[in-house]
Amino acid sequence: MKILVVENPRPPVMEHYNDVANAPLSASLNSGYALAVARRAGWETAYLDLAASRENVETLAGRIVLEDADLILFHWVYSWGSENIVRELVSLLKKNHGAAIGAFGLFPTLAHQRLSVYVPQLDFILLGEFEVTLEEMLCNKPEQNNIQSLPGLYSGRSDVVRRVPLSDLSHLPIPDDVGANRCYPTMNIAASRGCFGDCSFCFISSYYGCRRRRERSSASFANELETRLKRRTVENVYLIDPTFVGYDERQTGHARQVSAILKSNNLPFGFEARVDTLDEALIDEMAKNGASSVFLGIESGSEAALQRLNKRITRRQIVRAARAVQNSGITLSVGFIMFEPDSTLDELFENYDLLEELELLSHHDRTINMLYHSQIVLYGSKSWQAFAAAERLLLDERLPFEACYQFKHRSVELVCTAMRRLSHYYFMRMDQLPRQPGVAGAEQIAGRHLHHPPGVDGELLNRILKEAFLAFITAAGSCDSQCFNELEQTHTQRLTSVLGGVPQTLQ
Ligand code: SF4
Repeated sequence: MKILVVENPRPPVMEHYNDVANAPLSASLNSGYALAVARRAGWETAYLDLAASRENVETLAGRIVLEDADLILFHWVYSWGSENIVRELVSLLKKNHGAAIGAFGLFPTLAHQRLSVYVPQLDFILLGEFEVTLEEMLCNKPEQNNIQSLPGLYSGRSDVVRRVPLSDLSHLPIPDDVGANRCYPTMNIAASRGCFGDCSFCFISSYYGCRRRRERSSASFANELETRLKRRTVENVYLIDPTFVGYDERQTGHARQVSAILKSNNLPFGFEARVDTLDEALIDEMAKNGASSVFLGIESGSEAALQRLNKRITRRQIVRAARAVQNSGITLSVGFIMFEPDSTLDELFENYDLLEELELLSHHDRTINMLYHSQIVLYGSKSWQAFAAAERLLLDERLPFEACYQFKHRSVELVCTAMRRLSHYYFMRMDQLPRQPGVAGAEQIAGRHLHHPPGVDGELLNRILKEAFLAFITAAGSCDSQCFNELEQTHTQRLTSVLGGVPQTLQ
């Protein structure tokens, strides 16, 4: 029997041009694990990556039918309002093909009940950590009208029982290297799953159905690394663990062991961690073992906002960890939610001060990323429930799986909207303009060398972005909407004088 794993089409959407928060990094290995599990269950496998496809639904359906699979499994990543493409695709396939059709991944997990109504032709949805459920299902040779009831499998007909997450990750097979990832010089790999944190905006614990962080054995990590390095040329590794480092000695010992394995393979690596799990000694050891980049989810410079986000860290811990990373020579990148829904204008100033203090506003690419992000709310998440309970969700019937929310302060919403418009124009123009390596002013960010487009004064560009933000937060509390619009136009025009083109706000 044959299974086909399909990445859903994900057309770019202007409003979310630069947003990546619709799936955790670990999603990049989901399809690889599904394929490896299926082969272990004795199935023939095939893979179709339609993520970047712009073909019409009939053509896409034709490509899927050509594979002649008995089971079609969509790795469905939330696609900002383009879910109708998969809905039409599933509907067409059901009319013309006899395969059972299912979905898995973060989005189908969070939204399983609403999704099974939205796409009633779906035979099943695999919830959360899917590998054991998939293997059991495949061993039972499922047919489209006869999907066996299993823990972790939702068929829309009954209440679902979540499967207990794996206690020993070493039982997982080695994931296939598939899709766009296969061509990157960086190889994604996992040393652990889950997180003990409970941040209000995060999807990780909802996906796994628990707040446990589970590590795999160092031996199984080394074995996977060795196997996958034989498949392709790799320059470095990225550990996709939500938090690579744990709190206690045993957990930090595990991170040390994994880094030593990477060092023995001469592989520089990047990882993600909470600031309260890192100290200078550990960071220095990671640097010696080849750590080249660290991502810290610092999220805010305001103690009050950190508490609202349930981040359970302090500004002091943030500064200490960030400084230690910077002093070690490891490239620091950070996650930052500038516009938390209850933010005040004073908190936006505090955010800005922290970013300046940590020297995170020195290059326009990083500056814009720090200054425009707001919280994203997806259906089925904790934050959706919280905003719904507070009657602050702003629903749009064209977007059944995504919502905006009412900001607590109108002045903050004004700044957020203005920065979002400015960032859309910035990202669009930067994608249109050529980037040349070796141009003066290049700076290393998150392990990548970023450069100014030829003819663009990068320092001026950076200054304009920062001045726009400061002007908006200074004016938002006192200025009426007409005066604020004029201010936005002024700063947009300053940006166009450097980048050219015409932003939507000036058309
Ligand atoms: S620390 Fe990171 S992974 Fe853990 S709950 Fe918070 S945001 Fe999620």
